[in-house]
Amino acid sequence: ATPTALMVGTARSAKMGVLIKNGEVLEEVGDLDTVVFDKTGTITVGKPQVTNIIGNQQQVLSVAASLEEDSEHPLAIAILKEASTQNITPVKVQNFKAIEGKGVTASYNGQVAFIGNDRLLEDNNISQEIVSQAAKLQAQAKTVVYVGLDKQILGLIAIQDAPKPSSKAAIAALKARGLKTVMLTGDNEKVAQAIAKEVGIDQVIAGVLPNEKADHIKKLQKGNHKVAFVGDGINDAPALSTADVGIAMGSGTDIAIDSGEIVLVQNDLRGVVRALDISKKTFNRIK
Ligand code: ADP
Ligand code: MG
Repeated sequence: ATPTALMVGTARSAKMGVLIKNGEVLEEVGDLDTVVFDKTGTITVGKPQVTNIIGNQQQVLSVAASLEEDSEHPLAIAILKEASTQNITPVKVQNFKAIEGKGVTASYNGQVAFIGNDRLLEDNNISQEIVSQAAKLQAQAKTVVYVGLDKQILGLIAIQDAPKPSSKAAIAALKARGLKTVMLTGDNEKVAQAIAKEVGIDQVIAGVLPNEKADHIKKLQKGNHKVAFVGDGINDAPALSTADVGIAMGSGTDIAIDSGEIVLVQNDLRGVVRALDISKKTFNRIK
């Protein structure tokens, strides 16, 4: 394409909220055969809400909120909001430690407290009897975090983050254009599958640790596949850079936006479809 055609293409997409940093990437967009999505904040709204608490509500929420007070994770924000609604004031904890992709531990009134997923329980040899109760909630697309003290589980909190209303249509449009769609998430397999089913995603890769996301992109690229990754988080930055086309949500963290070649200003996945269509128009016209 001529520089002018690329300028026309990028200007047209910018009008539709699809910011293309460098027009050259439009050609790569036309070659894509796979689009990989982060879950939280990308497919979903990214504003999770507490829906269920199993165990002594007061105690579970108090320990949970105290642990999450220094955490910036979307799940932490949901838990602190629920605690505040129920007039539960977090207490100061010591030795706060965020464990990437797993949860948080800290010292709470002199005992080791924890909040996190099954991998955190495994790492600490904590009995997983409660896990069967979690399965039902996870099948309803709810993320479950376990809360405990001194190696005992006090209970669990289920948190729901609904898909954006536009996600389903965007994924259908990508599939109609012959692209494969994949979800790549740190969340539990059952939750990921439930959300994938709601929005029509073809393939799920769940339970992925933050530092593993880019490796999964490389695997998907094998056999000369052209792969886009769409994400918003700090831990999405390496995958955004590794993908053939990195697409960041405008609502994302600065590092994600810096790592992406395209930014979806309206946080709407239909922007990926627009980029594809504009690429097609741009490159057809010149030929
Ligand atoms: P995603 O890829 O969906 O953005 P993350 O890698 O941030 O997910 O987190 C994966 C999982 O790790 C969460 O679903 C949760 O089970 C657990 N986790 C991470 N941080 C926290 C936290 N601050 N509190 C509780 N659980 C957490
Ligand atoms: Mg995210």
